[in-house]
Amino acid sequence: MSVQTYTGCCHCGAVAFEVDADLEAGTLRCNCSICTKTRAWLILVPSERFRLLTGADRLADYRFGAARIRHRFCTVCGVKTHGETVDGSHVAVSVVCLDGLAPERLAALPVRYVDGAHDRWDAAPAVTAYL
Ligand SMILES: [Zn+2]
Repeated sequence: MSVQTYTGCCHCGAVAFEVDADLEAGTLRCNCSICTKTRAWLILVPSERFRLLTGADRLADYRFGAARIRHRFCTVCGVKTHGETVDGSHVAVSVVCLDGLAPERLAALPVRYVDGAHDRWDAAPAVTAYL
């Protein structure tokens, strides 16, 4: 596949966005504390490929630890739609917030596991099956 434009939104629809992404190039699952608790499944794109369409006034901004990522979530329904690096360079978009992807396509997407719990972004954790 190639880069395509996808739409996506939170559960209630207050927050909607577009993202230009090549999903078949790979998705991310991470074992860090917040990715584990939110069961995050992400695609990382340069920020110019992400466009917030609605809901800027509904998004909360959560940061923790070194605060390198602004974790954004809808204050109406609580769904975490994306995160932004604080340097503004990249956006990590929730794959499951994208519209219209068939289960078969989701199941076939390549997944790269990263050991965010130990700041090892180039290596998979020892155990991945629960992520
Ligand atoms: Zn919402």
